[in-house]
Amino acid sequence: MKLIFEKRLPGITAVSLPEQNLPQNTSLPQELLRRDCDLPEVSEGELIRHYTALSRRNLGVDNAFYPLGSCTMKYNPKIHEKLARLDDFCESHPLAPAAAVQGNLELIWELEQALCEITGMDAFSLQPSAGAHGELTGLMIIKAFFKAGGQQRDTIITPDSSHGTNPASAAMCGFKILTLKSNARGEIDPNELEALMSEKVAALMLTNPNTLGLFDKNILRICEIVHNSGGLVYGDGANANAVLGMARFKDMGFDLVHLNLHKTFSTPHGGGGPGAGPLGVTRALRDYLPAPLVSKTENGFDYIDPPHSIGRVKAFNGNFSIFVRALAYIRGLGGEGLKRTGRIAVLNANYLRKLLENDFHLKYKTLCKHEFVIDDSTMPAGVTTMDLAKRLLDYGFHPPTVYFPLIVKGALMIEPTETESKQTMDNFARTLITIKQEAADNPELVKGAPYSTPVSRLDEVRAARNPVLRYSKEE
Ligand SMILES: *Cc1c(COP(=O)(O)O)cnc(C)c1O
Repeated sequence: MKLIFEKRLPGITAVSLPEQNLPQNTSLPQELLRRDCDLPEVSEGELIRHYTALSRRNLGVDNAFYPLGSCTMKYNPKIHEKLARLDDFCESHPLAPAAAVQGNLELIWELEQALCEITGMDAFSLQPSAGAHGELTGLMIIKAFFKAGGQQRDTIITPDSSHGTNPASAAMCGFKILTLKSNARGEIDPNELEALMSEKVAALMLTNPNTLGLFDKNILRICEIVHNSGGLVYGDGANANAVLGMARFKDMGFDLVHLNLHKTFSTPHGGGGPGAGPLGVTRALRDYLPAPLVSKTENGFDYIDPPHSIGRVKAFNGNFSIFVRALAYIRGLGGEGLKRTGRIAVLNANYLRKLLENDFHLKYKTLCKHEFVIDDSTMPAGVTTMDLAKRLLDYGFHPPTVYFPLIVKGALMIEPTETESKQTMDNFARTLITIKQEAADNPELVKGAPYSTPVSRLDEVRAARNPVLRYSKEE
């Protein structure tokens, strides 16, 4: 597809303003008026066609099933967009004094209360702008907490099933990482954990349900082991769909947890767009939260700085428009609705798992929560996970997460979410089984896919190592 600059017809513009009857001699300084500005010269109609065509090249939740495990790509109600665009939200200045933005502060406060109720935690900071950012904020708090207590704990334990951001955030915060091997059930072995614990361990970072979609039934025992040796337990709650209204992180024993509002609480995401990864903590850690927090006073709402705050981690209040969507989602569903959301997310994942379990290998066969993992070990003729994923694109499906978690060779991690219908899941399962049959009949067909996309197989290593981020006419 051509760039808009390559569609240029010299002299054509997409604007048609009426003749001005203002004086011609403008007082603008001439040196500021650029005449060399390279603007695309196309008509209004061509402009619309260009961008509409570009937008149609996206595969997203609004035009396809997108079972991207660990990412919760679900339908986001459009009413949330309308609310987030209300003038009073959009036009308030982020540095406005508290007295001028009482409604905004009330919204922040209400969302914080709701997240506390959902997770059981005692306080939340809404500042972090992504899951990984919530992790980093939590680790900075853990560091500050032990420093204040005069303890030299410099190590974080992460299971080998953990999301890559967990060890990455810990390393970024200056911690050493110890990896804990999962047992045959894909869970943590409490005895192995006990053996790793020492007075050097600051925290265990744990995802529950984990990235295999499995809820660790030993969670109380696990948290007890860490607490008994003076450590803290950090919860990665990025994918909280399955436990909504069913289990609370604080009750499981977590001291800190982040949520991804852009996954569980209905904000469109992908491509690195704005998100929010609020961090919740217990009372013991509340005073370390990023400043400022919003508090309810006799006269309304005001900003307060926690006494041992680690400082700001994000400009202003965080990504406010995401808070509007999240609160609308929580209020719209209510407690019972959230619970139903969690139950349907689990039901859908198990339904799809059952549809696939006779044709594909599952390393962990037990009842799952919001997602499950199949692999390519039953694929004929050396057809791999990558081939399967690429072929799905020809059938109009976004592929699942591939080659993650690392402990399943050739993994495809599937998360249908609660917003998908039985028909869509039936269709998807049928398609995967069809592709497996294609691989047996004509492996080259699958190995050469996709055929329906603007570009086929990209050199991913070269794209990462040698990114071309700027268009140049000369090249
Ligand atoms: C998505 C995810 C993260 C990271 O969240 P970002 O918002 O992408 O930074 C961390 N942990 C788990 C389990 C996730 O699924």
